[in-house]
Amino acid sequence: MKNLDWSNLSFGYIKTDWNVRCWFKNGAWGPIEESDSEFFPIHIAASSLHYGQEAFEGLKAFRGKDGKVRIFRMEANAERLQSTCRATLMPELPTETFCAMVKKVVELNKDFIPPYESGASLYIRPLIIGTGITVGVKPADEYLAVIFVTPVGPYFKGGFSVNPYALVRSYDRSAPLGMGKYKVGGNYAASLYANRIAHEKGYCSEFYLDAKEKKYIDECGAANFIGIKQGTYVTPKSDSILPSITNKSLMQLAKDNGMKVEQRQIPLEELLEMDEAGACGTAAVISPIERIDDIELGKSYVIAKDGKPGPVLTKLYNQLRAIQYGDVADPHNWVTVLDF
Ligand SMILES: *Cc1c(COP(=O)(O)O)cnc(C)c1O
Repeated sequence: MKNLDWSNLSFGYIKTDWNVRCWFKNGAWGPIEESDSEFFPIHIAASSLHYGQEAFEGLKAFRGKDGKVRIFRMEANAERLQSTCRATLMPELPTETFCAMVKKVVELNKDFIPPYESGASLYIRPLIIGTGITVGVKPADEYLAVIFVTPVGPYFKGGFSVNPYALVRSYDRSAPLGMGKYKVGGNYAASLYANRIAHEKGYCSEFYLDAKEKKYIDECGAANFIGIKQGTYVTPKSDSILPSITNKSLMQLAKDNGMKVEQRQIPLEELLEMDEAGACGTAAVISPIERIDDIELGKSYVIAKDGKPGPVLTKLYNQLRAIQYGDVADPHNWVTVLDF
């Protein structure tokens, strides 16, 4: 294992030894290549650079108490990447190739997978970019799929805790019939400005309402929203939010716990009836919400009145983490165990 300060890793980039690549040329994906370079040459007229023809993903691998390495739901990430490829007229990377690339890059960098005790994990970042030359707006004829990894620290350094969010009304991250349900970099470029405003005002992230009516909850920055209302798990149904694999997994665990799960439109005012709320995604699993401040209308929706995460989200958080680290059985076959 590498000599890193495992307990003090942040969510940033640390150079590892290897990345894996696969080129799409002449209408077909080529062999999986291993590279020890952090760079690749790219043509100045590549479609990804000018017209944003690209897709990305994010998933994690975890080292268990037993020393084995577990990758969480990589087939689901492969399928979501394919859906983004279809939406951006890029060739789909087959699930088999995606999974082979993920397993290979994790194994090649096994010395960078944090030890169980650190609470850290290995973040896996796949991307596909248009590398073919385009000046007129059209899809490229060549693409590059790359997967790199980087060790990341536990999201909650001081333990699982609550955070405030800033509701921004003057900005949308995606349009009602736009690209919000796909993992494209452009959605992030579109969110940087509102994200900056939220950070400058001391919030952990910006919070979006639906772009059309500004009436319903959409997303918490780059994470899905979950509310707990009288024991029911409530999460938005919207065509402009990313279908989070973490959210899907938590919905299943909630059902396993005998909870009711509702995926529906959630009017903003319903926040006042929520016992608990959280933002969910691969990075944090769940980041409990302290309050949501409507910074333009000057109204505050306080969720965690005692300033602490609630019991239901805490339980779901612990249950999902236990499956990811292999502390408990994996009843839904979410985990790929690597033996090397
Ligand atoms: C990636 C992402 C999420 C979280 O998805 P997970 O699969 O749970 O990591 C949520 N919202 C947006 C906008 C995202 O890009």
